[in-house]
Amino acid sequence: MSDAAAPPAVSNFLREIVSRDMAEGKHKAVVTRFPPEPNGYLHIGHAKAICINFNIAQEFGGHCNLRFDDTNPAKEEQEYIDAIQADVRWLGFDWGKNLFYASDYFETLYEWAEHLIRNGDAYIDDQSAEETRLNRGTLTEPGKPSPFRDRSVDENLDLFRRMRAGEFPNGARVLRAKIDMAAGNINLRDPVLYRIIHTHHPRTGTSWCIYPNYDFAHGQSDALEHVTHSLCSLEYEDHKPLYDWLLAHLPVPSHPKQYEFARLNMTYTLLSKRHLTRLVQGKHVSGWDDPRMPTLAGLRRRGVPAPALVDFVKRVGVARANSVVDIAMFDACVREMLNKTASRYMGVLRPLKVVIENYPEGAGEDLEAVNNPEDPGAGSRKVPFSRELYIEQDDFMEEPPKKFFRLSPGAEVRLRYAYFVTCREAVKNAAGEVVELRCTYDPASKGGNSPDGRKVKATLHWVSAAHAKTAEVRLYNPLFTRPDPASAEDPISELNPNSLEVIEAKVEPALADAVVGTPVQFERLGYFCRDQDAGLVFNRTVGLRDTYAKA
Ligand code: ATP
Ligand code: MG
Repeated sequence: MSDAAAPPAVSNFLREIVSRDMAEGKHKAVVTRFPPEPNGYLHIGHAKAICINFNIAQEFGGHCNLRFDDTNPAKEEQEYIDAIQADVRWLGFDWGKNLFYASDYFETLYEWAEHLIRNGDAYIDDQSAEETRLNRGTLTEPGKPSPFRDRSVDENLDLFRRMRAGEFPNGARVLRAKIDMAAGNINLRDPVLYRIIHTHHPRTGTSWCIYPNYDFAHGQSDALEHVTHSLCSLEYEDHKPLYDWLLAHLPVPSHPKQYEFARLNMTYTLLSKRHLTRLVQGKHVSGWDDPRMPTLAGLRRRGVPAPALVDFVKRVGVARANSVVDIAMFDACVREMLNKTASRYMGVLRPLKVVIENYPEGAGEDLEAVNNPEDPGAGSRKVPFSRELYIEQDDFMEEPPKKFFRLSPGAEVRLRYAYFVTCREAVKNAAGEVVELRCTYDPASKGGNSPDGRKVKATLHWVSAAHAKTAEVRLYNPLFTRPDPASAEDPISELNPNSLEVIEAKVEPALADAVVGTPVQFERLGYFCRDQDAGLVFNRTVGLRDTYAKA
């Protein structure tokens, strides 16, 4: 699976639409936008939307705006605004001067709301949220018109201005579009456009106490920015008639067209800010950048290179049909990229002591080790060898089954870059557990080369006990036990209790200088990267092989 060649840039239906529009001369330049609400950190699903929007704009010589949909101050924070910008940049995209906020347009949006009122296209409704919900009807039954639906223009204008002036408490009244309470599409049953929220806004402070909702802000912001193609995920398809209705009823400077693509879904992964927020607030994870989170900040901290993410999104492709991507495909993209770029080191996760009885006490030597067999330019380094070593507990079995070629009493193996060694005895503690191996080495096999053509079937990684550094290693497993956590009644109850395993490992001394965030390979084990936490801490990014296949 890891040798799947990167496919050539394939076209997709969005590109075809844009390409046709450009050929027909509909636009001078393509303008797209990525419009996150700053109410959480971006996740891998957002990476798909980011790549689609920025790539299409770039390909057709246009630009992509980064626009914050900051219309609900009750849930939005500056921390999220900053994190989102850092994440988009990390992915490798640049919005240049095209950074916008829906809040930049609050005054215009307010005027446009009055415009609707004056034309009899909107009214102030005094029903409670509960009444409004009950009167909205169902998929099979039409809604009931609000008793306030036929207020005069003057009364509506007066009430709307008093809402703005702060005369009413939260929830007392809303502004609604006057469309059709019997519409088949529930979004057209007099949707709410403005609500009262007395809360400090990260950018406009206390200037406003009424805020447009997503539907009233989104299309109009697109129009103000002369967005040509408003590309969003499928759940907005039902909002499109409202998007178009509003643009048709307002004096907007342009009429963008909305197109929808399927959201990214992935097995074992929850991609919904609402649930991710619950994980953070409930302290089920250490924060938004916990390496188990599917957030860009989490993946970055885990050691996933941005180009691997971009490559993954490209391979997933763009379609209109919903589907669920196997997380193994994501891991394969990460592995493939790291295989080319990560330097190799030796680290032992579960150390078992080995004493080389015929190696002189107090002696030692530096052996030459290749940094990256995939990249000759990466050079080599010295690894210290001595009489006492650690190998992986898994690499020894006292009573090995037939196909076990690693160490067992009497067996000979190669220690990578070092020597052939033979196990002479397994020393046990009182509980009968093997705590040490007594071995001998063949001095003629230096470098791990056979002295006489005799073969060994296994090559083990090791570290010199006296030289090794102790490191905390964090092994990550999927956050959820079931492949489809989003289908669970409450996904939080499906958390994997073993999603994080912390162990004390022994690593070769060169790793003491590992740079935070730079990926490395621990030979035979997987890809790791040093964590930002103090001390010598490594996160496992991904193992060397697909472990989901077994599951
Ligand atoms: P969530 O559903 O996770 O809470 P959201 O859609 O509410 O996310 P927004 O900040 O509104 O988050 O999203 C910004 C953009 O990202 C939207 O245009 C949306 O279409 C897109 N997006 C969000 N989730 C995904 C996903 N899983 N796959 C593709 N695009 C997505
Ligand atoms: Mg949303």
